[in-house]
Amino acid sequence: MTVTHRSLRRAMVDTCLAMNRSGINQGASGNLSARAGDGFLVTPSGLPYDEMRPRDIVAMGFDGRYESLRRPSSEWRIHRDVLAARPDVDVVLHAHPTFATALAVHGRGIPAFHYMVALAGGDSIRCAPYATFGTQELSDHALEALEGRLACLLGNHGMVVLGRSLKAALALAVEVEALARQYVYALSLGSPTILPPDEIARVARKMRAMGYGDPSASTPSSSVEGMNNDMEQ
Ligand code: 13P
Ligand code: ZN
Repeated sequence: MTVTHRSLRRAMVDTCLAMNRSGINQGASGNLSARAGDGFLVTPSGLPYDEMRPRDIVAMGFDGRYESLRRPSSEWRIHRDVLAARPDVDVVLHAHPTFATALAVHGRGIPAFHYMVALAGGDSIRCAPYATFGTQELSDHALEALEGRLACLLGNHGMVVLGRSLKAALALAVEVEALARQYVYALSLGSPTILPPDEIARVARKMRAMGYGDPSASTPSSSVEGMNNDMEQ
């Protein structure tokens, strides 16, 4: 077996370890994939991240075929289906963070209670209906809940987050978990105010103009004047 995409495999292992360090994942939960060549790489099933080596990561084709030392993640269908349907993303991250999962066990998504919800691509983070882990039904539900979005919750299960890069997907996953935590606390005080869709659209335009949520766009704009032209105030 030839081991391809060595640096991407290494970066995936590092991202998985960072998922655990950030507190959004634990044990053998969660999985990660990245587009590679004419297929994708996906983490192996049931292997704790602190034991995972780059060569344990499984290279798969979009037809579901693979050649590997390990079995691919049981959620390979979610990874395959999202990467096939969404040319706008190259990475799929799945985890079971505590607060996102607490909402998902109630079948609740995250409404626009905070303007940062716009980072996930719209005025809500939807919760997909429950289906058994590793099934095509779960993948179908996830794909639908992700329409026009970069994140969704999975009923009685966890979250799925998409990104252009490993760094972007990890950053958004941490952000979605923070939003879930804030929303759970806000609910404990009553019914939080929900921002209207036109405000979230305005926030989204402003975030785009500022390169917000895109870790590759962290260098300040070279022209303040240019920014003012781009940005709605
Ligand atoms: P895998 O170890 O098979 O990737 O499964 C973990 C998981 O979170 C299933 O939903
Ligand atoms: Zn899972």
